[in-house]
Amino acid sequence: MQHYQMLIDGQWVDGSGGDRFETMNPFTAKSWATIAKGTADDAGRAVEAAHKALKTGPWGKMSASARGAIMRKFADLLAEHGQSLAETETRDNGKLIAEMSLQLRYVSQIVHYFAGMADKIEGSVPPIERPGYFNYTRREPIGVVAAITPWNSPLLLAISKISPALAAGCTVVIKPSEFTSASTLEMARLVKEAGFPDGVINVVTGFGQDVGAALTAHPKVAKVSFTGSDYGGRAVYQAAARDFKSVTLELGGKSPNIVFDDAVIEDAVKGAISGIFAASGQTCIAGSRLLVQESIHDQFVEKLLAMARTARIGDPSKMDTEVGPVTTPPQYQKVLGYIDVAKNEGAELLLGGGPSDFGEYFVQPTIFSGVNNKMRIAQEEVFGPVLSIIKFKDEAEAIEIANDTIYGLASGVWTQSIKRMFTMANAIEAGTVWVNTYRAASYTTPFGGYKHSGIGIENGLPAIQTFLKSKSVWINFGADVPNPFVMRLS
Ligand code: NAD
Repeated sequence: MQHYQMLIDGQWVDGSGGDRFETMNPFTAKSWATIAKGTADDAGRAVEAAHKALKTGPWGKMSASARGAIMRKFADLLAEHGQSLAETETRDNGKLIAEMSLQLRYVSQIVHYFAGMADKIEGSVPPIERPGYFNYTRREPIGVVAAITPWNSPLLLAISKISPALAAGCTVVIKPSEFTSASTLEMARLVKEAGFPDGVINVVTGFGQDVGAALTAHPKVAKVSFTGSDYGGRAVYQAAARDFKSVTLELGGKSPNIVFDDAVIEDAVKGAISGIFAASGQTCIAGSRLLVQESIHDQFVEKLLAMARTARIGDPSKMDTEVGPVTTPPQYQKVLGYIDVAKNEGAELLLGGGPSDFGEYFVQPTIFSGVNNKMRIAQEEVFGPVLSIIKFKDEAEAIEIANDTIYGLASGVWTQSIKRMFTMANAIEAGTVWVNTYRAASYTTPFGGYKHSGIGIENGLPAIQTFLKSKSVWINFGADVPNPFVMRLS
C-alpha cells in the first residue's frame, strides 16, 4: 500500500512515534494508503520550523513581490497537477470527479488572487494634530498560522486558508483531517518546486486531539484558522483564548432554502436539489431546510421528487455520477441515525430513507415533508443527503423560521419580486444569501458564518486583513520632549 509522509521544515518524515494510520476510499470501502501519524512533538517541531522561517529565514526578509512570485508559481503548479490532485481527492474523499476537476482550476485561481495582494499591503500616514511628530502605520504578518481543516473539502479549504496567510507574509502549519490527508500531502509536494523556503509551509498529519490540540496550544502559534464542527470549533476557541490567539472559525450550518409562490419553479427545484444532494449533502452550506410557501407546496414537492428520482448514484470517479458515497464510516452512521430521528419525530418520508445498495457507505437521497422547525431534524446539522421540507404561510413566517436556528452560514431565496429579494437579504441572519441561485461561490467575496456558524471570514479582500496586525510608529523630529509625569493628549 502506498505510504504518505508529512512535511516538516522541508523534510518528508514519519511521525516521531513511528505509527501510521490507514486512509479509506469511501466508494470501495477499502484502505488504499497509509499516512504518517503525527504526534504533539511533531506539531511542536513544525511550529518551531515555521517560526524560524518567519523570524530568521529568507521568507521573512524577502520582498513582498518576491513572495507573490513564489505563490504564482505554486498556483501554476497546482493547475498543472490539477487532474491528479482531483483524482486523489475523489479516491480519498468520494467527492465527484466532475466537481473536483473544476475545483482544482478554482484552487489555482485562489492562490493567484491572493498572490496579487502580497505587494499591495500598505500602511498609512495618519495626520497628527501636533507639529514635530511624524506617525506611520505598518501592516505586519500576524505570525505562525495553524490551518486545521475538515474532511469534506480538504484541498479547497487548506488553500483558502494558506493563500491569504502566505500573501500576508505568515508561515503555516496545516493539519488536515485524519480521514482525508492524502490530497493535502500531494499538494505539499509542489511546495519546494514552487520555491517556498523550508519551513514556510508544513503539513502535520494525525488526529485532532493530538496534533490539532498541540498546534492550538502552542505558544508560538499566533493564529488558528479552523474549519470543522462546532464541537471542534469550541475546543479550538477555548484553547486559543488561553494565550489570546487570534482565530477564524468556519463551522456548521442548517441553512434555509426558501421558495416563494412567485418563484420560477423549475429553477427553484434545481436549487433545492443542488442545495442538498450535491456532495451528498456533505457541505457546510447545504440547504437542508427547504421552506416552501403553502400555496405551491404540493405542486413544488411533486416536481422536486421527479427530479430527485433521476439522480445518478454511483462511482464518484465517473464523470456522469451525480451522488457519491458518504466520506467516513462515523458520518455514514450519523446520517442514518438522523433519518431514524426524523421518522420517530413524525416527519413524512417521501423519498429514500436508508442505506443505498451502490456500496457500503452510500445513503439514498432522502426527502422528508411535514417537518416542523422545532424538530431535531430541522435544528441539528446532518451533513448528508437528507432534506427537510417545511411549509410557511407568508414572508414574515418564512423569516421567522429561517432565523430560528443556532446557525447562520448560508441561505437561499427563490422569488421574482425585487422588493422581496432585498427584504429577505436584509432579514436573514446568515453570512451568505443567495437569490435565485444556490452554492454560487467566488474567492473574491467574503464567506463566513453568523451565530454558531463561526467567527471571521475567508475569501475576498478582507480575508488578508485577518492575517495582519497593525503597528503605529511615532517619530519626534522637533517637538519638545514633554513633562514625563503628564501624558500630553493635545
Ligand atoms: P471536526 O471538527 O471533527 O474536525 C475538523 C478538524 O479539526 C480535523 O482536522 C480534526 O482532526 C481537528 N480537530 C478535532 N478536534 C480538535 C481539537 N480539539 N483541537 C484541534 N483540532 C481538532 O469536523 P469534521 O467532521 O472534519 O468536518 C465537518 C464539519 O465541518 C461540519 O460541521 C461542517 O459544517 C463543517 N464545515 C464548515 C465549513 C465552513 O466553511 N463553515 C466548511 C466545511 C465544513
